[in-house]
Amino acid sequence: MDHKTSFFKKADIVLAIALLLLGLGSFLLLQNLQKAGDTVTVTVDGSLYGTYPLAEDRTEQIVTPLGSNTLRIEGGRVWISEADCPNHDCVEKGAIAKQGQIILCLPHKLSVTITEQEGGGPDAVSY
Ligand SMILES: [Zn+2]
Repeated sequence: MDHKTSFFKKADIVLAIALLLLGLGSFLLLQNLQKAGDTVTVTVDGSLYGTYPLAEDRTEQIVTPLGSNTLRIEGGRVWISEADCPNHDCVEKGAIAKQGQIILCLPHKLSVTITEQEGGGPDAVSY
């Protein structure tokens, strides 16, 4: 009988850990699904400057020949927090979060758009 009770205790612990991992896994999966595929694409004067995953919070200094803009990505949104352009239209535009939305800084010939990630990177095949 002793063996049986200890077996069940072990089984309970294993079950608890399994449930915990399952919960954590589905939480991460859900986060991944919500944000998968969205990429922030920055172009300067019509050429690609860089792409950044929308899911990763970061601050990026975009330096163009005409001036610089500070790109902020946070919580699945992206905006220009600072710029040395004369009109600050890009800063006043505020945050964008959906595919196809665009922030323009005409004095710097800069555009920031949200696009769908093409083809799916290594992240896409991990599930
Ligand atoms: Zn601007």
